[in-house]
Amino acid sequence: MSVLTEQLAKTEESITQQCLAGGRNREEVILVAVSKTKPLHMIEEAYAAGQRHFGENRMQELQEKAESLDHDDLQWHMIGTLQTNKIKFIAAYVHWIHSVFKVKQLNEINKRAAQHNRVINVLIQVNISEEPQKGGCEADELDELLTHAQTLDHILVRGLMGMAKFTDDETTISDSFELLRNLQQRHNTNYPKLTELSMGMSNDYALALDKGSTMLRIGSSIFGSRA
Ligand SMILES: *Cc1c(COP(=O)(O)O)cnc(C)c1O
Repeated sequence: MSVLTEQLAKTEESITQQCLAGGRNREEVILVAVSKTKPLHMIEEAYAAGQRHFGENRMQELQEKAESLDHDDLQWHMIGTLQTNKIKFIAAYVHWIHSVFKVKQLNEINKRAAQHNRVINVLIQVNISEEPQKGGCEADELDELLTHAQTLDHILVRGLMGMAKFTDDETTISDSFELLRNLQQRHNTNYPKLTELSMGMSNDYALALDKGSTMLRIGSSIFGSRA
């Protein structure tokens, strides 16, 4: 078994254990393998081992990789900063965009998805870290964004995404995940499709699973550290 295959299997096993311990069903959690900066052959290797969801944080990199790999059942997730003028590069390929928090981004994704006759799944990124550089909207902007998204035929808002504060303090991290879950539950009553919670990375996914995460974005634990 290669190092990558082994690390992927270990991550899978750990997610399964954590789900079991928390009384959760492994089936309700999607593992997004964050392959940013990593070469195509590593994605192919993970795919061969059964991995189907991959995350990228640069639009041109996602485009290039998507054009080079031809697997009908592979799903691409855009998790990084969105530049509105580059959304056209990924619209033909991306299945999920996790990092949307502006009306003009919603409009542009909708327009480009329509050109390709597609519907793109969107998560609204909420800033739960109080670190401005992390991006995301404020909790009180959610209603406006969700209401607007409902007028657009080529996007489906499926949930919320958030990144915890960069800290070792587990209580602080858990609190921000809980905040995101509370927001999702509150808005889910008006927006029934808002069921997903994208939270948890290599260093904090166990805490995120305990708080109800349904999408884990894990890079370095699977592919190794990045340069
Ligand atoms: C890079 C990245 C991840 C994965 O981080 P790791 O620590 O390598 O697991 C998750 N989410 C976002 C938004 C990222 O940019």
